[in-house]
Amino acid sequence: VECDAVIVGSGAGGGVTAALLSEAGAKVVVLEKGRFTPAAELPLRERQSFEEMYEMGSLMTTQDAGVNILAGSTLGGGTRVNWQASFETPAHVRREWATEHGLPAIASEQYDRALRAVCTRLGVTTGIKQHSCPNEKLKAGLEALGVHCGEIPRNCSREHSCGHCCFGCPSGDKQDATGTYLADAARIGAKIFTGGHSLPFFQLRNAWMKRRATGIAALTTSAFPNGRQWRIVFKARYVISSAGALHTPALLLRSKISVNGNVGRNLRLHPATAVIGGTLDVPEEILTWKGSIFSVFSNAVADWDGSGYGPLLQTPSAHPGLMAASIPWLSGVDYKRLCAWMPYVSIVLVLTRDRGSGRVTIGKDGLPRLRYWPDAHDRANMMKGMEAGLRALAAGGSLMVGTLQGGSREATRFEAARGTNGAMTDPAAFDGFLDRVRAEGIHKNGMTVFSAHQMGTARMGASAKTSVVDERGECWHVANLYVSDASLFPTSTGVNPMITVEAMAYMVAEGLA
Ligand SMILES: Cc1cc2nc3c(=O)[nH]c(=O)nc-3n(C[C@H](O)[C@H](O)[C@H](O)COP(=O)(O)OP(=O)(O)OC[C@H]3O[C@@H](n4cnc5c(N)ncnc54)[C@H](O)[C@@H]3O)c2cc1C
Repeated sequence: VECDAVIVGSGAGGGVTAALLSEAGAKVVVLEKGRFTPAAELPLRERQSFEEMYEMGSLMTTQDAGVNILAGSTLGGGTRVNWQASFETPAHVRREWATEHGLPAIASEQYDRALRAVCTRLGVTTGIKQHSCPNEKLKAGLEALGVHCGEIPRNCSREHSCGHCCFGCPSGDKQDATGTYLADAARIGAKIFTGGHSLPFFQLRNAWMKRRATGIAALTTSAFPNGRQWRIVFKARYVISSAGALHTPALLLRSKISVNGNVGRNLRLHPATAVIGGTLDVPEEILTWKGSIFSVFSNAVADWDGSGYGPLLQTPSAHPGLMAASIPWLSGVDYKRLCAWMPYVSIVLVLTRDRGSGRVTIGKDGLPRLRYWPDAHDRANMMKGMEAGLRALAAGGSLMVGTLQGGSREATRFEAARGTNGAMTDPAAFDGFLDRVRAEGIHKNGMTVFSAHQMGTARMGASAKTSVVDERGECWHVANLYVSDASLFPTSTGVNPMITVEAMAYMVAEGLA
């Protein structure tokens, strides 16, 4: 297949790149290893959706299983399954990238324009009509404490509250890449190849290049019942890797491109955990799988130590299977009790801007392997976020609160005594509980830690000594090879990254068009 640009991956970065290059008149081919399921055919069942739309059926972890990895692997990538939070890149992050990483363009008007363009195309809006119950609970708690409580901008209508966008939005209200940039690209003539059961499964092997990229080769097996492999070659003027921060480094490493060992380094994950709360004696239905997913957040402790790296509080989309997988094992009885309690549980997500980093390498099969565990500073931030989340839940009326730590029941759960006016009668007991949570700590394999934000593994920078691509997104060591996805981030953003991915992809594509 001959074309001007071959784009590997169809997520946040790939979609924007495909549309802008197509609009500029380029003959574009997009290759996506996941499949496309139209909105009307989405299964919307938790197990099937995780299996079909997520990387490794949602069972991917770091090498030592310390962190669970959630990443979209379907047409539209993460945008198809994500939770709609549409934050612009924070000003302090833009300054940091411009000054400390030699990327003045990120602080420039050009980047402002890119942000405006993607937010407009995605219909990013605030002014939600109705928060879901868990979001209302978080809001009530934050307001009772008198700390920051903000509304999350979303890429859907103000009315949208289907609760199923994590499995593809059934109404198409969420403006993911399939309904926006990929649709734009296809309308103009871009060719999009997807994997799936009935179509050939493209496991892209090597980019075809030495010092200049000229194409990419794919091996496919499933087209033939006898499993015989055949090879497809895409010849292109530009090869653009938008395979996400797990697979872009894998593709480069399979192609023997390491850029002074920088490919795969600097993996950031925004390590996340959660705290839970609810009432026990008089159960009140919360249903964390219903209504708007993300709409309330707090940055009350996001910069508590002045480092610019800290946790955000939000409410996750938690369907029963995901909850069951996250509940720590204290005993059989305790586990069953918590499972039965699921409809009445409020959850606060603690999402930490990580300063430490990990690494993506490849195994013998050529697929990505991850090494990562938050360092002491990031673990302290996670703990600070857990404490803030527990306080918000208690202030919002939760009589029982708990963490996802796997320690003793006393250390990880607390039932508050309340007076007739609803106020906690023994605040010192709650402080004692927080002390026990701190003492329990953040232990690898001892509690639920997960990541839905993988970033930084082919970072943009000012020199081949410290980065993989230059400010235009072109690889320092291979001409015509570009990166356009979350791998580009020099550090983590501290907010949900989709809009930053799209704005950076916009700039890379503008430079190429
Ligand atoms: C459950 C969940 C919730 C999230 N919620 C939010 C949110 O609310 N707000 C927000 O800002 N961010 C959110 N994110 C994160 C956001 O979606 C991602 O940061 C973003 O999509 C990353 O963009 P990307 O272009 O780097 O990669 P992706 O969007 O992940 O796209 C990469 C694509 O490349 C494909 N691919 C990989 N390797 C190959 C190959 N060899 N050949 C062909 N195709 C390949 C993958 O299948 C995938 O579809 C969420 C993510 C998840 C998983």
